[in-house]
Amino acid sequence: MAQILFTARSGGSSSGSFDSFNLGGHVGDASKSVADNRRILQSLLSQSAPKFMNQVHGNEVVEVDENTQSSITADALITRMKGVPLAVLSADCLPILVEGESVVAAIHAGRKGILNGIISNTIELIRSKSSGELSAIIGPAICEKCYEVDLDMYLDAINLEPSLATNPETHCLDLKRAAIRELEANEVKVTNLGICTAHDSNYFSYRRDGITGRSAGVIVL
Ligand SMILES: [Zn+2]
Repeated sequence: MAQILFTARSGGSSSGSFDSFNLGGHVGDASKSVADNRRILQSLLSQSAPKFMNQVHGNEVVEVDENTQSSITADALITRMKGVPLAVLSADCLPILVEGESVVAAIHAGRKGILNGIISNTIELIRSKSSGELSAIIGPAICEKCYEVDLDMYLDAINLEPSLATNPETHCLDLKRAAIRELEANEVKVTNLGICTAHDSNYFSYRRDGITGRSAGVIVL
């Protein structure tokens, strides 16, 4: 079994808008606080330092090992190495952790990433390197009632991916349903934690708060 962890807001050393367990380095928080929080995360895991991504809402997937430098530009990481924690940062976007017998992955999937195929790209790369069943956990992320976009963006998105649709009156996108559909289409068993970051003040939410921190989803083979 892989080791899996999702952080919430509390338990860190950041203050103000980033109170307190902010793990994002490019959101305006003091770099010392972020470094402290990343050390806290590492001690919670009792593993080597997690590999973080420089996430760009793209569809690039990178395989890493213990020698790969952190902050590689990608929106998903996979590894077949034991004891190498993979981290995805989010504050509304979907943190998706994937586990197989001899492989794990961490995926950052927001609207753009989903439309760009980040989920299928990740599963394809995993399957090209490893056989066996896969399961995925969708961590705390914005729900279909909270993720309102303007009507044009809504119509463009559901045209590309119909499972994002809710209704044209509220024009909110259902990122979790689209992610579940894509994972299941790739024969991945899915668990959705069902936590909405915008509804639940225990989590950072960019939509709710604007300037805010980032939580982490971490998986270790
Ligand atoms: Zn919500």
